Amino acid sequence: MDMNVKPKPVAQTALERVIQRPSREEAEAAVRTLIAWAGDNPNREGLIDTPRRVVDSYREFYSGYDEDAAKILETTFSEVGGYDDIVLVRDIPFNSHCEHHMVPFVGKAHIAYLPHDGVVGLSKLARVTDVFAKRLQTQENLTAQIIEAINEAINPRGAAVMLEAEHMCMSMRGVRKHGSSTITHRFTGVLAEDRQEQDRFFALIRAGR
Ligand SMILES: [Zn+2]
Repeated sequence: MDMNVKPKPVAQTALERVIQRPSREEAEAAVRTLIAWAGDNPNREGLIDTPRRVVDSYREFYSGYDEDAAKILETTFSEVGGYDDIVLVRDIPFNSHCEHHMVPFVGKAHIAYLPHDGVVGLSKLARVTDVFAKRLQTQENLTAQIIEAINEAINPRGAAVMLEAEHMCMSMRGVRKHGSSTITHRFTGVLAEDRQEQDRFFALIRAGR
């Protein structure tokens, strides 16, 4: 037997993830441990219900793990009066948590695409942003995941995603630089190939400000 053959990694199914998810009690116990680690008494009056509230908050902060972007973008509309020019939704607010420190990063997403066979409801772009934002993230990955979901679902001639966000792990700890923002963007299709289309995207984001 060849000992150099590595076993193939087994893909984790959604079901296995659910089974491995700890119980609510275990999650609350972990929060009590962190409170004690911070130096406080998890049994004092003001903190006694905190683990329950933190676990509830986590359900909300990380609700994106239980959602499917493809489902949200499933319905497209083709009767748009022949409209095939750029569709841009700008200033979509989002909040996420950085996967390195589990502290928030908060900002706005600007999402655009050039329709091919249809358009999606405008609110769907905001919902897709949340599906990925409500997970442990890096801003770079969040940008990529949003644009990939749009490409897969509606096959546009091109797409663009730009995120601007302030990272609390930079404002509250480490270098403590308050007010700095991080900008990421990603283009695909026509928007990746054509500088003029990119310029138009940036101009539309600034328009009327
Ligand atoms: Zn961080």
